[in-house]
Amino acid sequence: MVRYRGYKVETIVEVEQVDVLIVGSGPSGISTALHLVQADPSWAERIVVVDKAVHPREKLCGGGVTHLGTDVLAHLGLRFEPQHFTVREVKLVYEDKSYSILGNPAFRITRRDEFDHWLVRVGEERGIRVRQNEAVKEIEVGDEYVAVITERSVFHARIVVGADGSRSFVRSRLKWDDDSRVARLLEVLTPEDSQRQVEFKNGIAVFDFTPMKQDLQGYYWDFPSYVEGKPFMNRGVFDSRARPEREKASLVDVLDSSMAERQRRLKDYKLKGHPIRWFDPRGRFAVPRVLLVGDAAGADPLFGEGISFALGYGEVAAEAIADAFEREDFSFSTYGRRLLQHRLFRHLKMRTRVARKAYLLNYPWLVRLGWLLARFLIRFTRWRDRDYQPGDAPRLLNGTQIFRINPD
Ligand SMILES: Cc1cc2nc3c(=O)[nH]c(=O)nc-3n(C[C@H](O)[C@H](O)[C@H](O)COP(=O)(O)OP(=O)(O)OC[C@H]3O[C@@H](n4cnc5c(N)ncnc54)[C@H](O)[C@@H]3O)c2cc1C
Repeated sequence: MVRYRGYKVETIVEVEQVDVLIVGSGPSGISTALHLVQADPSWAERIVVVDKAVHPREKLCGGGVTHLGTDVLAHLGLRFEPQHFTVREVKLVYEDKSYSILGNPAFRITRRDEFDHWLVRVGEERGIRVRQNEAVKEIEVGDEYVAVITERSVFHARIVVGADGSRSFVRSRLKWDDDSRVARLLEVLTPEDSQRQVEFKNGIAVFDFTPMKQDLQGYYWDFPSYVEGKPFMNRGVFDSRARPEREKASLVDVLDSSMAERQRRLKDYKLKGHPIRWFDPRGRFAVPRVLLVGDAAGADPLFGEGISFALGYGEVAAEAIADAFEREDFSFSTYGRRLLQHRLFRHLKMRTRVARKAYLLNYPWLVRLGWLLARFLIRFTRWRDRDYQPGDAPRLLNGTQIFRINPD
């Protein structure tokens, strides 16, 4: 054990100089690296990704990936290769009312250990160094570089990307000042008989907003999934807290009663919880030499969608990083603006606005009215069509594959 600036480090061969150090190898971190390498393959030797975990690592998540995410993957030349459950119908429920949006697929449900491991392997194939089992322990931002101490080494990085999730160490160490935007989630996996259950047979994912009556600012979900090839229902509750001033729902009670309606007893299963930090367009996304991506920066407060946005942050961050080196300006003063100009984050901004409104008023008659209206309006959109393939990915990947870098 050696000490560096008062911190214990296992071994130090020498301080490692690196242009870009990415903390976290989830979708946001790997996407940032992949976008840099796509812009110029020589970036591969200028990036190091460190993660405290070893892939395939567990990540609590519903695993729903919409076309917003598959579009980002398609632009990177990637088909959605990890195993997944194909959702053909998204059923949105409130009390006895429901409406459905259809698609082929409407979205995909993957297991995060497999999905994230796949992305890491793609990154490594493209020359990116991913150092696993190496937690970041300390960060100090200087004028010329950021000193980052991990369990095994010391880096002097010209830029650090905080891609380390909702409980971001980078954020907390650098005392980021906007910390109140955190959604709460609980999740259980229940083993199922896929031959008998309609959700498995017909490819249905359920979002049940009825628990809004129990002060939940969100919904209960049923996501059919396969864990190591076996059918499980991923069940959980999402409480956005987009309106932090309102009373808190009891998440355990909501999950317990929602599962009881589906003839499942919560106490028979292993309950897990994790927060999601959500996106506020007025938030701070960077300080000089450090920028945040993915959950560390903020995800969707309306539905809790985070994977697609995590992938999307990578694109914007990569552009900002390349630009910083080109101009030798590491202030990242325009990173927030870049995000807000990007199509995906304009959409995320809209979701934040809708979440604040939708979870403010809690009148069942109004929500029911909204459901009737949505059921009517959906008829005029392509989401009524079972063969609808949303997004750009089908076109990008079926045509000339100009971006495909992973041919086998
Ligand atoms: C219960 C639940 C259900 C969800 N369901 C969905 C869903 O169905 N669809 C969807 O789109 N989103 C969902 N989300 C949100 C989604 O999981 C996140 O938005 C997504 O994981 C964000 O990716 P990320 O790369 O930013 O962070 P993460 O995936 O959290 O990755 C962060 C990485 O950083 C590493 N790390 C952390 N600290 C350190 C450190 N000190 N040093 C080194 N490495 C570190 C971690 O090991 C991890 O690998 C859900 C979230 C929860 C909690």
